[in-house]
Amino acid sequence: MADIVVIGGGQAGSSLVARLREQGFEGGVTLVCGESVPPYQRPPLSKAYLLGDMDEARLYLRPESYYAEKGIELVLGAETVAIDRVAKTVTLADRVLPYDQLALTTGSHPRRLPAAMGGDLAGVHVVRTLADVDGMQPGFGPGKRALIVGGGYIGLEAAAVARKLGVEVTLVEMAPRILQRVAAPETSDYFRALHTAKGVAIREGLGLERLLGDTHVTGARFSDGSEIAVDFVIVGVGIAPATELAEAAGVAVDNGIVVDAQGRTSDPHIWAAGDCAIFPRHGQMIRLESVQNAIDQAEQVADNMLGAGVDYDPKPWFWSDQYDVKLQIAGLNTGYDRVVVRKTGDSVSHWYYGGETLLAVDAMNDPRNYMIGKRLIEAGKSPAPDVIANPETDMKALLKA
Ligand SMILES: Cc1cc2nc3c(=O)[nH]c(=O)nc-3n(C[C@H](O)[C@H](O)[C@H](O)COP(=O)(O)OP(=O)(O)OC[C@H]3O[C@@H](n4cnc5c(N)ncnc54)[C@H](O)[C@@H]3O)c2cc1C
Repeated sequence: MADIVVIGGGQAGSSLVARLREQGFEGGVTLVCGESVPPYQRPPLSKAYLLGDMDEARLYLRPESYYAEKGIELVLGAETVAIDRVAKTVTLADRVLPYDQLALTTGSHPRRLPAAMGGDLAGVHVVRTLADVDGMQPGFGPGKRALIVGGGYIGLEAAAVARKLGVEVTLVEMAPRILQRVAAPETSDYFRALHTAKGVAIREGLGLERLLGDTHVTGARFSDGSEIAVDFVIVGVGIAPATELAEAAGVAVDNGIVVDAQGRTSDPHIWAAGDCAIFPRHGQMIRLESVQNAIDQAEQVADNMLGAGVDYDPKPWFWSDQYDVKLQIAGLNTGYDRVVVRKTGDSVSHWYYGGETLLAVDAMNDPRNYMIGKRLIEAGKSPAPDVIANPETDMKALLKA
């Protein structure tokens, strides 16, 4: 009976091994986890868990007993150090595992500030793992001063938690506006106004020159020469796919582990899914950094490892929680040239069009329009932009049109 080894016990790895068993695969399944805890969900790390509203066990994607019950060997705290593609083995610190098929679900690494900028000072944190958050949480408290570097979703979520806990927050974004990489100016404006109203000092179009301090961070100097005093720093400047294992083994890597539409790498016995994988969609190679992608791609790869031969067709969705605002995003806004705003009461949605085609929706406290937008996009339907903007439009009726 064949052996399948999966490297990386995160959202994708956990989904992949579970799916193998759901599909009736009876061979050996081993999930190698670099971290010493069972696979867990990361989104609460910058939301409820950071706030102290959620305990660790609730982060786990499945109880630890699940893996034993399903005959899945869970190897915790074990970094895979090498893949031998000829011998078809993977090497851990204390053992060598043979495989017939191998899946890489190694996720991504948070980008850090270089040591020359003070990135290695104590009190400078990233938000990727449970250990990262457990290490920073004690510093959150009333009257503490935080600098958040980067105005993406993780930085903004951390800012919201910090304000809720009474921390004074400055957020610096090098680009002209927060969320520039991922959202339209309308969405940036919405979240800038929200955070400013909550007391976050947002400084856009400003670079961090360096962090100050001897051993522990005490301040920050910006590119305009200004300085502030800080007690701790959170760096949220994006991620890089974890490709080093694949690269060292000679598997094709190009801003991610390159896979075909079915999730197979340049080695037909090795597959990849989740944050680490770059895959073809509508003629372009893309990577998606989301729970939706990690689960759906991993499940598709599991099916394909068992011979399904089906292309992965993502239906992207994403969310972010900041204060009492729930942002829900459906679709991908790449290539948009127009944004239509729909507002009813406190609910707002931003609809992205590329020409006449509806590409994506950002919905703020507007679950109804998020769901309608998602279903329209998935059905390939594009109502005229002025129909969306008209507050009188019966949105639900658009689904039947
Ligand atoms: C703070 C935070 C908030 C987020 N919020 C949202 C959100 O609101 N909505 C959303 O959709 N997405 C969110 N995301 C993104 C989402 O969590 C990721 O896209 C998802 O976790 C990717 O799953 P993955 O399995 O590919 O990678 P991961 O979950 O990162 O898992 C990869 C695992 O592989 C392990 N690994 C790597 N190399 C090795 C090796 N050599 N040997 C053994 N193990 C190895 C790593 O230790 C890690 O545990 C958030 C992410 C973070 C960090």
